[in-house]
Amino acid sequence: MTESRGLGVAARLYDVYLFDMDGTIYLGDELLPGAGRLVRALRERGRAVRFLSNNPTKDPEQYAEKLAALGLPTPVDEIVNTVVTMTRWLLDNAPDAVVYPISEPPLVRALERAGIRMSGDPAEIDVVVASYDRSFTYQKLQTAFDAIWFHKRARLVATNPDRFCPFPGGRGEPDCAAIVAAIEACTGVRCEANVGKPNPAMLHAALAGLEVDLGDCVIVGDRLSTDIRMGLDAGAATALVLTGATKAEDLESLPASDLANLVLDRIDRLLPPQVWKELDWKEEPGPGSPTRNC
Ligand SMILES: [Mg+2]
Repeated sequence: MTESRGLGVAARLYDVYLFDMDGTIYLGDELLPGAGRLVRALRERGRAVRFLSNNPTKDPEQYAEKLAALGLPTPVDEIVNTVVTMTRWLLDNAPDAVVYPISEPPLVRALERAGIRMSGDPAEIDVVVASYDRSFTYQKLQTAFDAIWFHKRARLVATNPDRFCPFPGGRGEPDCAAIVAAIEACTGVRCEANVGKPNPAMLHAALAGLEVDLGDCVIVGDRLSTDIRMGLDAGAATALVLTGATKAEDLESLPASDLANLVLDRIDRLLPPQVWKELDWKEEPGPGSPTRNC
């Protein structure tokens, strides 16, 4: 498969479409142009559609509600995010650990449901989980510091490697990488596991129950270092949309090994021109430029 720096259109249909959400399907509370009709057209053609997000500030049920409100009703088990993969990682890799999640309520709820013990007492914390936490405080940093550096017992893991979450209008919000950096800076300890994209754990969770060759999957996202990297490492086709975190100029100096196979200015170009013709699709502008926040 060839990689691309310039805008293109898909040449074929795939069996499975794995979509990132923030910056790919929607931005803030608006579907991105063409996203709704694309997903509906794929489903009508019997293609499997799955949604992925590195964002742990919602759980899959909340994402299902959001997609339904945007006109894309989706079963909860077709949505995977880092709340799911972090819970799985802890059950598999630290089953008896006492966990201190630096997180918002969805991850805490999922850990509770999974029977994972949690504590804010640094003397008994075995694993500090850093995540995208808009209630992050100096006190939380102190607790992580004491558990890792003073008591020398806790491991540090993270939900996702994203530096920021893209917002409409070119803005954004600090994401999990900022929390990890704060803890690493004061403790001198490196984060040992990151369960968001590009970790293949996300891909395996999303493909659970589907019998498919990775060569018949396409991973679609707005971020090179997470969405596209995961697809490249797995040997799947990759499509980068320029509707979120990545701009066309970001591609100019990238090595070929980091580029996606396709670059799209709007997501519905994932259907080949022949299918556009069959569907009588025109270059309509879609729902318009999003203006509201995540
Ligand atoms: Mg994204």
